[in-house]
Amino acid sequence: MKIGPGDEPHEQISVLNPADGSIIGEVPAGTRQDADNAVLLAREAFSSWSRTDATNRSKILFTSAERVRADQKELAVLLTREQGKPIRESMNEIAGFARVLEYYASISGSLPGDYGKSSSYGHMVVARQPLGVCAAIIPWNMPALIMAWKIGPVLATGNTMVLKPSKTAPLTCIALAGHLSASGLPEDVLKIVTGTGEVIGKSLATHPDIRSLSFTGSVDTGIRVASLAAPTLKKTILELGGSDAMIVCHDADLKAAAKGAVSGRFFNCGQTCTAIKRVFVHEQIAGSFINEIKELTSRFKIGNGLESGVDMGPLHTRRQRDLVHEIVRNTIDSDMGQVLTGGVLSDAGSLNSGNFYMPTILTDVDPDAPVMKEEVFGPVLPVTTFSTLDEAIDHANATRFGLGSSVWTHDARTISRAIEELNAGIIWVNQHLRIPPEVPFGGMKSSGIGRENGRNALLSYLEEKTILINP
Ligand code: NAD
Repeated sequence: MKIGPGDEPHEQISVLNPADGSIIGEVPAGTRQDADNAVLLAREAFSSWSRTDATNRSKILFTSAERVRADQKELAVLLTREQGKPIRESMNEIAGFARVLEYYASISGSLPGDYGKSSSYGHMVVARQPLGVCAAIIPWNMPALIMAWKIGPVLATGNTMVLKPSKTAPLTCIALAGHLSASGLPEDVLKIVTGTGEVIGKSLATHPDIRSLSFTGSVDTGIRVASLAAPTLKKTILELGGSDAMIVCHDADLKAAAKGAVSGRFFNCGQTCTAIKRVFVHEQIAGSFINEIKELTSRFKIGNGLESGVDMGPLHTRRQRDLVHEIVRNTIDSDMGQVLTGGVLSDAGSLNSGNFYMPTILTDVDPDAPVMKEEVFGPVLPVTTFSTLDEAIDHANATRFGLGSSVWTHDARTISRAIEELNAGIIWVNQHLRIPPEVPFGGMKSSGIGRENGRNALLSYLEEKTILINP
């Protein structure tokens, strides 16, 4: 297979189905030359795309969304086959992709330049122009949605983009890019380059002609990417890991909170940056809350995400599953928590060929245990109790992360304190893990730099020029 003009045949990367280990496709292992070609072509495409009227750009995004919605089922099946999530979640993610494009299509023309007049300086005008070629490096956990968060504001503002998907989940991104192209997106405005982080990711991060880099992934890779990007002074947005806390107060609606905990943790097999990764429950209601989450979890159907009624699929990779099991075992072996349910690879012979892990609840967990401090990217819910709100907020803030946190209560003073005192980019009240495209999304501390989504995302892909006219 060839990618890029005049290239030699490439080595191939196999894409595996996490449910059974079978090979479902192959993509080229791109080279530095492929990344450079893509940037060159995207730079050439910029000159006409940046001059295309915003209304016409919006039309293409609307048409793309419509096409994606029409092909939702097929795209969702592909997503489940390469990523592992239940088909219901894939259907929602594909719909989310379309919704994000529609959102940016609907607001792309709504950022006119500002102007004013001063007796000293004359006319003061702020004009906004697209940056040029932007790059995105994305992970495997929500490939379609994260791709939309990157391409939506970039394309709507007249920039072009080179996007590197994860090497383990590139197929849905390629299929989605095909829909944009079939909807009239001019050639080379969006380039997808497949390959490894060390080759393609590094090439994009260091490329002098890329003006902006939006990275989503782990903290360690984010730090590396930021340092690779620094010498070329590109605008860099980092969306990194999280260890979201859920605080369940004594007056919480117990059933709603238990349902929220279970869906907020086991959604996408626990592999979501804003999943609930730690629960702090008030000691007065801890017993009932724990019984309720155990009961809900016991009804889970685990299996291949394409089977009907499956609530939780496999972990994305075998390595990911082994890491999750290791941290559970270490918690138990060091007496820092107890297994209430789960803690095993799988309980059915038919699941052995996939990367399955049973939904796991740990109780009496030491708030200083690594399972509470580090990001555990898998279906493990550690629970511990608190007696005062001060204590709960202190625990919630006591990690290097600051992505999201939720508080479950109907008390106005508690809500007010949580909003004020929780160090997180997103604070939910009586809900968790909901991310509408209309509002900013991103984290504090090691969870990242910058925000995506919302109208401000458009601004981050525009250069401002101040013009002072003395008539
Ligand atoms: P990862 O950091 O391993 O990889 C992310 C991307 O970076 C991949 O495309 C990878 O190929 C690329 N990459 C790897 N090494 C690179 C290098 N040296 N230079 C340039 N690029 C390189 O992350 P992952 O395992 O794919 O994803 C899981 C992580 O992503 C979790 O930590 C999760 O919390 C985080 N995440 C964050 C958000 C958010 O919006 N904050 C959303 C989803 C996932």
